[in-house]
Amino acid sequence: MENDCIFCNIASGKTGADLLFEDETLVVFKDIKPHAPTHLLIVPKKHIRSVNDLTAEDQGIIGHMIMVAKEAAKRESVNESGYKLLFNVERGGGQVIFHLHLHLLGGWER
Ligand code: 5GP
Ligand code: ZN
Repeated sequence: MENDCIFCNIASGKTGADLLFEDETLVVFKDIKPHAPTHLLIVPKKHIRSVNDLTAEDQGIIGHMIMVAKEAAKRESVNESGYKLLFNVERGGGQVIFHLHLHLLGGWER
């Protein structure tokens, strides 16, 4: 946990967010500035800077993030119309929050 990290603070409940799901490993909440009709963020509670910083011991977290994203897509009813799962990696890859997160984007007309 890093005190000045916005996603650490959301994951620990210090900063409010519209949490849709939480378990011992991660939280899911709506993106504050959505880029799609449905735009969720799947965020591990562990502070990991980016995909570049993943280690072998984080494999379970990544697998779990994707499984939770799949279930969130179903709950948001975008699973059949389709969606994107996206990691922005470092500045050149569009990352602006340096705490690992998976974007779930969907809800466009088919
Ligand atoms: P990145 O570009 O780092 O992959 O994406 C960061 C995302 O986090 C952006 O889509 C941005 O809108 C979202 N975001 C930034 N700060 C907050 C916040 O305080 N609350 C929520 N819910 N989303 C945020
Ligand atoms: Zn963090």
